[in-house]
Amino acid sequence: MTTLLIKNGWVIDPANKIDKITNIFIENGKIKSIGSKSPKANKTIDAKGLIVTPGLIDMHVHLREPGKEDEETIASGTASAINGGFTSLACMPNTDPAIDNEASAEFVYLQAKRSGKANVFPVGAVTKGRKGEEISEMGQLFRGGAVGFSDDGAPIKSAEVVRRALEYSKMFDKPIIDHCEDLDLIRDGTMSEGSVSVKLGLVGMPPVSEEIMVYRDIALAKLTGGKLHIAHISTKRAVDLVRQAKKDGIKVTAEVTPHHLTMTDDCVKTSDFNTNYKVNPPLRTKSDVEALRAGLKDGTIDVIASDHAPHSEEEKDVEFNVAPFGIIGMESLLPVVLTELVHKKVITIKQLVAALTINPAKILGISKGTLSIGADADVTLIDLNKEWVIDPTKFKSKSRNCPFAGWKVKGKAVGVILNGQILI
Ligand SMILES: [Zn+2]
Ligand SMILES: [Zn+2]
Repeated sequence: MTTLLIKNGWVIDPANKIDKITNIFIENGKIKSIGSKSPKANKTIDAKGLIVTPGLIDMHVHLREPGKEDEETIASGTASAINGGFTSLACMPNTDPAIDNEASAEFVYLQAKRSGKANVFPVGAVTKGRKGEEISEMGQLFRGGAVGFSDDGAPIKSAEVVRRALEYSKMFDKPIIDHCEDLDLIRDGTMSEGSVSVKLGLVGMPPVSEEIMVYRDIALAKLTGGKLHIAHISTKRAVDLVRQAKKDGIKVTAEVTPHHLTMTDDCVKTSDFNTNYKVNPPLRTKSDVEALRAGLKDGTIDVIASDHAPHSEEEKDVEFNVAPFGIIGMESLLPVVLTELVHKKVITIKQLVAALTINPAKILGISKGTLSIGADADVTLIDLNKEWVIDPTKFKSKSRNCPFAGWKVKGKAVGVILNGQILI
């Protein structure tokens, strides 16, 4: 029998309403007990001064295996997750080939198991080959372990497809996760449309292209009763739409990224067209950032996710117009949001932990994100006061496209336990 005691940590487990200094006793990879009186263990971690949370979950990650293993593999991606404090992640299906059948979902589980580093939950494609035409074999994907359905990287263009996908997904109680973007309005835009794009002479991506799709999807979620999750919400009006939909009792949830919470389109100008500020959805304005923060604070936005999107240096080191969209984020998420949101009192540490544990777990319907007795002993230890500078050259990810390089941050995951095993 292997046992582990995490002693005197500040345990925050929003799912079980735990918020106190106490001990966690782990036996054979499961949470055995929580309380001040614990039995002796084979190994003890002194967590005095540290926050102890359920293992963090990043529900929006792009691993590039299969297809672009030079940018990320399931092994390097899970190493990156652990280094950032995440014990679980959900990966998007836009690999090559796409995760659009049972075997491809099973492949993800197999590779993740081989890596032994973090739990990986595949999101299956909504349409075959993510082509937006024919709906995928959602039942098969579910059997293969898909925890949601998305064509992320691209929107689901056809409203009819969204409607049917929402209908089918009710059978499995899994969400349709949409990347909301009207491609006709986007054209070949590279940054958010507004005063900055005009000044820079770049083709803009109008915020309304996101808002139209958010509205369409909410209307279809209402019609069907299916579960809708809005990926990487980025505009004020989109937040307003989700807030109203929740008030109306529609089954909609939303996630936001650290970069949309902390950066604006001005970065494209001040960085002199650094392509690490080229993301989709694009960085918006200050009033959008404020609305996203307000949405997170009042519970309109449920989750913070990285939208970790690795690209090679060759791919990114080109003109702004032609560079691919996307930045990596698993190893910068926690310090950035601790520094900018928690230390600056935008949200509480409890809200942050919920947005990274039980909220994504509930949306995906996975038995993670809690320290309930009997649960898998996935635990993250956080030092709220550790000051450091983000240096992507030290990341475990294979890629380096991180706009947070050089940021002075306060807070870090300093311990990660997966199934009772100490990984950091
Ligand atoms: Zn997307
Ligand atoms: Zn994405």
